[in-house]
Amino acid sequence: MPATPNSAETLDAPGRAVVLLSGGLDSATVLAIARRDGFACHALSIDYGQRHRFELECAARVARALGAIDHKTVAVDLRAFGGSALTADIDVPTHERVDEIGSTIPITYVPARNLVFLALAVAYAETLGASDVFIGVNAVDYSGYPDCRPAFVSAFENVANLATKAGVEGRRLHVNTPIIEMSKAEIIRTGASLGVDYALTTSCYNPPAPMLACGHCDSCLLRRQGFEQAGVPDPTRYAG
Ligand code: ZN
Repeated sequence: MPATPNSAETLDAPGRAVVLLSGGLDSATVLAIARRDGFACHALSIDYGQRHRFELECAARVARALGAIDHKTVAVDLRAFGGSALTADIDVPTHERVDEIGSTIPITYVPARNLVFLALAVAYAETLGASDVFIGVNAVDYSGYPDCRPAFVSAFENVANLATKAGVEGRRLHVNTPIIEMSKAEIIRTGASLGVDYALTTSCYNPPAPMLACGHCDSCLLRRQGFEQAGVPDPTRYAG
């Protein structure tokens, strides 16, 4: 659904949005879309103890490059719980090809991550008087994470409006997922047309060095295939 920053519900703070920004390709594209649609964007990144923590530096650069009003990073250390290859001492699975990625929920799933992130984004939005939250979840070229599905996002939006003063007082919060139905190639083409510099972004779950991607985790494989299918030059440096 297209974002409508000038709807009657947003008169008290027209067009202000919180955009969850990871430093990756998807959320950078979402920030560019939210800017295109006229939103004044407050970027929000979460330092959750991810092993690919370097992505937070990328998020800061992306926020600046795409004209976010500000950029906050909030620390919520999910290593306290672990249970994921991204937050515990568990190897990140690697493959040679995209079709080797399994159909079950992989060990890189971080328990309830998007539920936690969206809750934080809604809390921030409420303090800003913002009507909209943007998140770069994608249900097409993704790893099978349950918290990337439209049913989850729609249910969460209901919860957000039940849980907040803004919602109870009739200032509805909207959770926007502009790339949820796009393929990775469509995401890249959209972002490229909006001037996203993907050289600023990182996708790798287990980067051997800053701005160097492993080339074999699920995220690297999907990113590389996305650029190939989009016909857009891939600025990523892959180790293998
Ligand atoms: Zn990788």
